[in-house]
Amino acid sequence: MSRSEKARTRLESLPTGVAAPPDGRLRDLSGWGQYPVVRGVERLSENLPEVTADAVLSRGLGRAYGDASLPPENARAHVAGSRLADRLLAFDPETGVLRAEAGVSLADLNRILLPRGWASPVSTGTAFVTLGGMVASDVHGRNHHVAGCFGEHVRALRMQVADGRILEVDAENHADLFHGSFGGMGLLGHVLEVELQMVRVPSQWIWSESDRMGCIDELLPALLEERTRWPYTVAWLDCTARGRALGRGILMKGRWATEAEAPRERPKRGPVVVVPFRLPSGLVNRHSLRLANLFWYQKHRAKRQVGVVSTDTFFYTLDGISQWHRVFGPRGFTQYQCVIPAEVSVYRDFLDRFQRGGGSSFVTVLKDCGPAGKGPLSFPQPGASLALDIPIEGDKTRDLVAALNEFVIANGGRIYLAKDAFTSPEHFRRMYPRLAEWEALRSKWDPEGRIASAQSRRLLGS
Ligand SMILES: Cc1cc2nc3c(=O)[nH]c(=O)nc-3n(C[C@H](O)[C@H](O)[C@H](O)COP(=O)(O)OP(=O)(O)OC[C@H]3O[C@@H](n4cnc5c(N)ncnc54)[C@H](O)[C@@H]3O)c2cc1C
Repeated sequence: MSRSEKARTRLESLPTGVAAPPDGRLRDLSGWGQYPVVRGVERLSENLPEVTADAVLSRGLGRAYGDASLPPENARAHVAGSRLADRLLAFDPETGVLRAEAGVSLADLNRILLPRGWASPVSTGTAFVTLGGMVASDVHGRNHHVAGCFGEHVRALRMQVADGRILEVDAENHADLFHGSFGGMGLLGHVLEVELQMVRVPSQWIWSESDRMGCIDELLPALLEERTRWPYTVAWLDCTARGRALGRGILMKGRWATEAEAPRERPKRGPVVVVPFRLPSGLVNRHSLRLANLFWYQKHRAKRQVGVVSTDTFFYTLDGISQWHRVFGPRGFTQYQCVIPAEVSVYRDFLDRFQRGGGSSFVTVLKDCGPAGKGPLSFPQPGASLALDIPIEGDKTRDLVAALNEFVIANGGRIYLAKDAFTSPEHFRRMYPRLAEWEALRSKWDPEGRIASAQSRRLLGS
C-alpha cells in the first residue's frame, strides 16, 4: 500500500494509558528491569520526525529490560520517545494491511482491531510495546515455530536515517536497511511508520489447554511434539525444583477459539493489581522465589486444564500486575533469555549450572523457536528459548551471566539483546555470526555514529 493509497479506512487511535513525563528534562531513564539507570533527556512529540531528526536514539514504551532503550552516558543529544505518535494511518479491511505510526502499541491494536476480526501476527508477553520497539527487537511470540519473527509480517517501514533523510524502505527499496532494522535495536535509524500484515481471527478468545509436567524430560519433548498441533505453545518452569523434578512446569497450548466456542460477549479486562512502590530488594531472595515457584506449580491443581480464555489471560498474564517489576526493589532485575538446542541433556545441564551458580528466577518461560529471522541480529534460531527473571545482586549476577553465556556459546546459542544488561563484547561477538555484516550496514547508514545506545556502547564501543 503506497502512502497515496493509504487512507481507505481511517481509525482513530486512543492513548495507551501511559502518562507523558515532562518533556525535555534531564532525568533518570531505565528499562523494564530498572537496571541500569542512565541520566538522559527524552523528548516526545505527536509529530515524530520533529524529535527523531537530531536524536541519539528512539524509544517506545521502555519494555526492553536492560540498556537497549537508554542513551549512552553523557549523550549530547536526546532520546526520541515515540509514544505520542500513536495514530493508525490506514487499514484495509479486505486485506488486513495496516499502516500505523511507530508509537502505536500492541494494546492499541488489540483494542481497536480484535473486535473487527484482526490480530497482530506476533504477540509478545506484554501488550505494552510499540510497533517501533517490535521492529527494533524483531520480537517473537508463542507462535514463533509457525509464524517466525515480527519482521516476517512487516511489508514496509518509513524511517529517518542518521543524515536526516526520511525514506520509505521495504524488501526492494533500501532492502539492506529494511532487513537490518529487524533486531537492529534502533541503531540503523528511527522507525516512523510501520506497514504490517494483520491476520484474520475467528473470535477474540483463545481455546487453551495446559498440562502439568513433572520434569524437563517430560516437558521439553511435549513442547516439541505439540508444535505441529498448536499455533501457540509456551511453558512455565519451576526453576527452583531439583533432582528428579528438575525443570518441572506447566505446558500451555492455544489457538483462536472458533465462533461456536467463543462466548458471545467481548472479553472484559480483569482487575489490574498495582504494586504501589518498590519493595525492599531483600524480599526477593532464594527462599521467597522458591515459595513463589512452588505456589505457581501447585496452583495448577488438575493435571490438565482446558477452556476458553481471553487474550489478556493467555498472552499477557503479567500485564494484570501493573508495575510488577517493583517487586524486585531498587536493585532491579535482569532477564536472561537465551536460545539453545532443544535437547533434554542440554536443558538439564543449563538448569543445573544455573542453580549451582546461585541463580533463582521469579518467572521462567520456555518457548519453541523456529527458523532465524531475516535480520542479522534477530535473536531466535532453531532450538528452544529460556527466559529467567533474575534479581540483581551486583557482581554475583555479572558472574552468573558470564558463566551462562559460556555455556550458551559452547552450545551454539545466543542471548536476546532486548533483555540483556550484562553480556560482555567478547561474548556478544561469539554469539552473533552475522555481526560483521550488520556492522557494515551501520557504517553505511550512520557513518558518523550519531545513533547510539547505552547497550551499543557496552557491546560495540563507540
Ligand atoms: C513483560 C514483558 C514480556 C515480554 N515478552 C516478550 C516476548 O514474548 N517476545 C519478545 O520478543 N519480546 C518480549 N519482551 C521484550 C519487548 O517486546 C521488547 O523489548 C520491545 O522492543 C519493547 O518495545 P518498546 O516499545 O517498549 O521499546 P523500548 O523498550 O522503548 O525500546 C526497545 C528497543 O527498540 C528501539 N526502538 C523503540 N522504538 C523505536 C523506533 N520508533 N525506531 C527505532 N528503534 C526503536 C529502542 O532503541 C530499543 O533498542 C517482553 C518485555 C516485557 C517487559
